[in-house]
Amino acid sequence: MDYSHVRDVDPAVADALSGEVRRQNETLAMIASENHASEAVLEAQGSALTNKYAEGYPGERYYAGCEYADEVEQLAIDRAKELWGAEHVNVQPHSGSQANMGVYLAMLEPGDKILSLDLTHGGHLSHGHPANFAGQTYEVEQYEVDAETGYVDYDGLDELAESFDPDTIVSGYSAYPREVEWERIQETADAVDAYHLADIAHITGLVAAGVHSSPVGVADFVTGSTHKTIRAGRGGMILCDSEYADAIDNAVFPGTQGGPLMHNIAGKAVGFKEALSSDFQAYAEQTVANAKALADQLQEHGLELVSGGTDNHLILADLRPSHPETTGKDVEAALESAGIVMNANTVPGETRSAFNPSGIRLGTPAITTRGFDEAATREVADLIARVIDDYDDETVVAEVGERVQELCDAYPLYE
Ligand SMILES: *Cc1c(COP(=O)(O)O)cnc(C)c1O
Repeated sequence: MDYSHVRDVDPAVADALSGEVRRQNETLAMIASENHASEAVLEAQGSALTNKYAEGYPGERYYAGCEYADEVEQLAIDRAKELWGAEHVNVQPHSGSQANMGVYLAMLEPGDKILSLDLTHGGHLSHGHPANFAGQTYEVEQYEVDAETGYVDYDGLDELAESFDPDTIVSGYSAYPREVEWERIQETADAVDAYHLADIAHITGLVAAGVHSSPVGVADFVTGSTHKTIRAGRGGMILCDSEYADAIDNAVFPGTQGGPLMHNIAGKAVGFKEALSSDFQAYAEQTVANAKALADQLQEHGLELVSGGTDNHLILADLRPSHPETTGKDVEAALESAGIVMNANTVPGETRSAFNPSGIRLGTPAITTRGFDEAATREVADLIARVIDDYDDETVVAEVGERVQELCDAYPLYE
């Protein structure tokens, strides 16, 4: 990736692009929602399809010259159907939030009611936060995770569903380390005659590989991002039964979007092809095995994990019991100096603020893409624990940083 054409036109942007490749090569990405797409996906995303207007769907476009756009979008759709077993797939949403917007627009009227998990308990802005269009357009009530166990409070959800009488229940989360009981939530939705939207943005890859149970065929609608565990480049998608196909397609275009990002859809097609391989199966299994190793080793160092561990690709640590004076932002900044990039996160029962919360969230999708196994991940956990214990000691941070550089060199990423 030399960006020679960009460099001829715009050295400032070329420097930033090269800098970003270097940054990704030389740091460990442990933000749970991030991954490293293959060079094949990057090439497809950077293709001439960015020039093409293809409003409409394969075979039914509003513009001429769509033969290659049709081919690429149909491949993405067919592969997604195979990966997730859905009857209908829309691969045009520009992002996971746009996918959710498409489902809401298809199924709800302004003022209708959404019941979703609280953001500080692991939910997502697009599930109805007041700062988001969903919170401003619909009436929102929120369920929580059990303060003691860290698991979704399914009984509390039942009670809220009964009293609030929602039109849609949203499941699927941003910072939830446990398997989601899709059937249980579907029963709740059925009991109050609500739709069920399962947002698998984080776990698309795990669900595709069968290492996390699937809500497809259970929930009415399933939305996902394509850049997280599935590593098919930035974007979103909607999966549903055939009965909702037209409503969903019309809600995405022309309901909320204009021309599809055909270059991104090409990236999705290529990433989905990669995900159909046995290599990807092994990758998804290793991602979960690494998260369990990370959880186990951090607990060895005395850290308290929300829910006591993980079933998926991420862990959430509550710093308050072990390090009452240390905030998530303290740790985020010190770890970034040491070359480990993760994020501070709110925890259930948060006593600080969303800007400087009491927890940290760590994920293994990106380091697993680099080739990390459980032993290497345990070493990373040791390094993280050292920094948490002495986040304001520059010598410790520098020593950890040197070891992180050695690990990055041992597990190379992009040329
Ligand atoms: C990441 C995420 C999304 C999608 O986010 P975008 O940044 O809009 O792609 C949606 N829902 C959940 C639960 C997420 O974690």
